[in-house]
Amino acid sequence: MKDSLTWSLIKLVDSLSFPEVCQICHQNHASSTDGFACKRCKNNLQHIKPPWCSLCGLPQITPSINSDVCNDCIKTKYSFSKARSIFAANHLPREVTHRLKYSRHDFFEPLLKEWLLKALQLDLNLQPLAVIPIPLHEHKKRERGFNQSDTIARIFASIINTPVEYNLLKRVTATESQTHLSRSRRISNVKNAFICPEPPSKRCFLLVDDVMTTGATADACAKTLISSGASSVEILTITRGTNY
Ligand SMILES: [Zn+2]
Ligand SMILES: [Zn+2]
Repeated sequence: MKDSLTWSLIKLVDSLSFPEVCQICHQNHASSTDGFACKRCKNNLQHIKPPWCSLCGLPQITPSINSDVCNDCIKTKYSFSKARSIFAANHLPREVTHRLKYSRHDFFEPLLKEWLLKALQLDLNLQPLAVIPIPLHEHKKRERGFNQSDTIARIFASIINTPVEYNLLKRVTATESQTHLSRSRRISNVKNAFICPEPPSKRCFLLVDDVMTTGATADACAKTLISSGASSVEILTITRGTNY
């Protein structure tokens, strides 16, 4: 694991030596202020737009009768009060969040900030008591060297001028990767995976992550926060894995 001084030095060297080329197509001009993505690549986005389910935020192709909540949310008792994502998990946002997560390509941070500014237009509570990154187990964090959700939480918290709480929620079980699991396996996989070492205030919190797929992890976190004392929990992710 590299310490923060080492990373600062790496970033400094990068900023001096990185060619001003788009790091997606490797053809067009792009600078550090663009997050190293050219205008053409930046257009490769699929925004999630209303009409959506007022709870889980998924676009409603066949809205349920007399309800602004989708059929799935009627059946599932989520602990979070609202989940919203900026983009569908494909194209550019998928590639950028992947490379941030697995290769620590943090030169994309200005792009993340550009995207997170769009989240101000979502119908989220923009005055939560704190922003909470979905935590990694400490072993995984040590192995990877960082938690990508910390980066997203830090950027969004600075936009809404709110503190980040890194220690309010802890992952105590090193769960297997959720990527190829069914929804029911994902739910049982994260059951009891989180704890609150200290009881949170009876206020609203905003949980953030790079991607939400079935919502099992986000919901397990929300459940832990609510049962420990939080009054409500909303979720914001950059992308949403969907089949629509
Ligand atoms: Zn490009
Ligand atoms: Zn829903």
